[in-house]
Amino acid sequence: MESSQVAVIGSGLIGRSWAMVFAAGGFKVKLYDIAQQQLTGALENIRKQMKELEESGFLKGSLNAEKQLALISICTDLKAAVEGATFIQECTPENLELKKKIFAQLDLIVGDNVVLSSSTSCLLPSKLFTGLKHVKQCIVSHPVNPPYFVPLVEIVPHPETDPSTIERTYALMKKIGQSPVKLNREIEGFVLNRLQYAVISEAWRLVGEGVISPTDLDLVMSDGLGMRYAFIGPLETMHLNAEGISNYCERYREGMKLVLNTFGPVPEFSGETEQKISQAPSLQHSSQPSPSGSTSLIQAMSEKIPVVPKHLNARREWRDECLTGLAKLKKQM
Ligand code: NAD
Repeated sequence: MESSQVAVIGSGLIGRSWAMVFAAGGFKVKLYDIAQQQLTGALENIRKQMKELEESGFLKGSLNAEKQLALISICTDLKAAVEGATFIQECTPENLELKKKIFAQLDLIVGDNVVLSSSTSCLLPSKLFTGLKHVKQCIVSHPVNPPYFVPLVEIVPHPETDPSTIERTYALMKKIGQSPVKLNREIEGFVLNRLQYAVISEAWRLVGEGVISPTDLDLVMSDGLGMRYAFIGPLETMHLNAEGISNYCERYREGMKLVLNTFGPVPEFSGETEQKISQAPSLQHSSQPSPSGSTSLIQAMSEKIPVVPKHLNARREWRDECLTGLAKLKKQM
């Protein structure tokens, strides 16, 4: 039986969200950071979010906001933070040397029964955990931002991770209402980002080559593919879009290969060429062309949502409301 206490290391965007997810699951959470001010701000932010969620009826878990808040305490002493915890979720900045240093510190102070888990988006477990005394207890649990609203967690083992660590992490994620998936081995980008980057890469190319405007490109996903993908994945899509997946391959194999062979090299995602949008007719109405006669993708996006905290945060809030509504709908289905 797992103890009901966890530690979250780092109280930024992801650490706060993990703390809320664990508290919603009824777990005691010790939230650790290097600066007291950072922790105080994090706790205030969590309180505000929980109250708003409660008011709008979207608070997760069976406890009310006050009771969930009472489960979270803050701490600037690493040893005290992890004392009594059977699961530690690290959420510090995406910097290999910093994370290695933190796991080396944890390695010295934890016992043999704790799971050491990292939120890293792209650092491989073999880079993070190799050489640690407790490597068998180490794992990556990669969340999706914002974890409170998007439940997927990619569980990625180090080659030496003990199977029981994978199972315990999987069971814990299930228990707190997340949706874990297990990778059998580590791979660059894990799975979510490999799929995401494939989409981003082609989106960048299509807009850069003037095939479609940025607004319409995003609509292809939000009003097209994305609607379906919120409920079924690409493999089930193949299965349902024909008389089974074999039939889909028979019908569309050659067509898919033809299209896939027209995909170009990996874009640079920088520089004038990539930033320019060739003269797409719909864009000529929506954005001012730059003096060179083409419009920058960055310019087009900035016009839609100005890159200032007020506008970005308003759009993020709207996105989170949409995701909450979608999560509710998915539960009802
Ligand atoms: P962030 O910058 O918002 O927060 C990092 C926190 O770590 C800050 O509170 C900082 O004070 C703290 N910190 C810095 N050094 C520390 C130390 N030595 N010990 C303890 N705390 C320390 O970052 P974030 O967006 O929350 O990302 C955290 C991790 O989650 C990263 O590995 C990131 O790749 C991963 N992740 C991020 C997202 C995302 O969209 N933001 C999504 C999935 C995973």
